[in-house]
Amino acid sequence: MDKLIKATAMNGDVRIIAAQTTELVNKAVKIHGCAAGAAVAFGRMLTAGSIVGSMLKAEQDKLTLQIDGGGPIKGISVTSYADAHVKGYVGNPAADLPLNDKGKVDVGGLVGREGSLMVIRDMGMREPYVGQSPIVTGEIGDDIAYYYTVSEQTPSAVGLGVLIDTDYSIKAAGGFLIQMMPDANEMAADIVTYRLEELNSITDMMSKGMSIEEIIRHIFEDMQLNILESMTPEYRCDCSREVVEQALISIGEQELRKLYEEGKTEELKCHYCNEKYLFAKEDFERILEEIKK
Ligand SMILES: [Zn+2]
Repeated sequence: MDKLIKATAMNGDVRIIAAQTTELVNKAVKIHGCAAGAAVAFGRMLTAGSIVGSMLKAEQDKLTLQIDGGGPIKGISVTSYADAHVKGYVGNPAADLPLNDKGKVDVGGLVGREGSLMVIRDMGMREPYVGQSPIVTGEIGDDIAYYYTVSEQTPSAVGLGVLIDTDYSIKAAGGFLIQMMPDANEMAADIVTYRLEELNSITDMMSKGMSIEEIIRHIFEDMQLNILESMTPEYRCDCSREVVEQALISIGEQELRKLYEEGKTEELKCHYCNEKYLFAKEDFERILEEIKK
């Protein structure tokens, strides 16, 4: 079962968030009909999203990660919430490339390297907070680590893994974010870096049957590991007819009137979950009357 764990190590100098997201990623790539390459890239973004989203404080806060490096995947967007639930979409879910020279899915090639990672934090203020950093490798984990280390001055390591089975379902997905606290002992960063270099990939450990908690214990057992809380990361869309109608209204009265006069039933599909919403002539009539008020 999917699980997200928050912990500290080395007397609180090190913050750890780790998640198993196999079911979450499986659900998302099925909804979006992703090819193998796109599934791995999207799965890494979704895993990263649920991890960084879990650092939000309030229920209504949301955090959106967007990456677009000009590659064939045409951008990925993931929005996450404090309870670690996420939703997202991929510009081109059919994107795929041959394996790279390490025999791995070429996520960097799919995402591209000419562009940026955007981090948009919406805490219900008038303006959301928008942070940005250039793409480093397009492999996503490196790019998110770079963003937190440079733009937010919190030294961070990020590991993300998505393993696809022979039937194209997700065999294992997960990841971790490890951050050094501002007043951390300098030695602590070196020890953590050294330990991470020795680490087998997180998906290898998962496919051998290790739970996310066992993996964290395996890495930090002897470093005063303190597990603080656990949550269930999940792929979930919160769309509704009202939300879709608001988006429809934003196209403007002139366009709405044109649709009304055409008299056809319009089908609007949610980006995140593919739910279809139908708007008939009488719906447009009502909307046009309401916006006049
Ligand atoms: Zn939806």
